[in-house]
Amino acid sequence: MPQHVVVSKDAFTHHHFRNILLACGGMCAIRYSNTIPFAQFLTLLPAECQALDLTPQTQFIVVLAEARALLTDDEFTAGLLHEEGHIVLGHLEGDVNDGLVTNEDFEFEADAYAVERTSREAMTDVLTKMKTILLDVSFPILFGKTYTDNTALQENVSTKIDEGLAARLARLQG
Ligand SMILES: [Zn+2]
Repeated sequence: MPQHVVVSKDAFTHHHFRNILLACGGMCAIRYSNTIPFAQFLTLLPAECQALDLTPQTQFIVVLAEARALLTDDEFTAGLLHEEGHIVLGHLEGDVNDGLVTNEDFEFEADAYAVERTSREAMTDVLTKMKTILLDVSFPILFGKTYTDNTALQENVSTKIDEGLAARLARLQG
């Protein structure tokens, strides 16, 4: 398993990685983005991440504590293996957006990687809970009052989440 840390959102003094984590549903595989000096990259990370043995080549997993709290141990393991899948399958090797994987095929592949090593049930439960994590944990933090007060935005985001998760759940069942 690649190095991983569980970090509270409050530990992120720089909004950048916190927002990536929130947008990913609370778990994310991250690698150094060489658009900035490595030393500066490290300073953007919470202290828990800086304590890892990181080099510019290291890919590691960060989990939002607020998301971890909603997962059982089996679901957490499946989620970590999904992120490990992104690393092992080389999904972060190309032109990634600062560690954020947005390719739907990559998500299918990482889900399949986790299912092979845990169970279809555990990965299904993670994806089912991811909607709750995104709507109840991530988006109120990301959008704050603007999100919770904006019904149109809520519906739009909720629909997009449903579509993305439904496609992944359908793959798991297929
Ligand atoms: Zn993923």
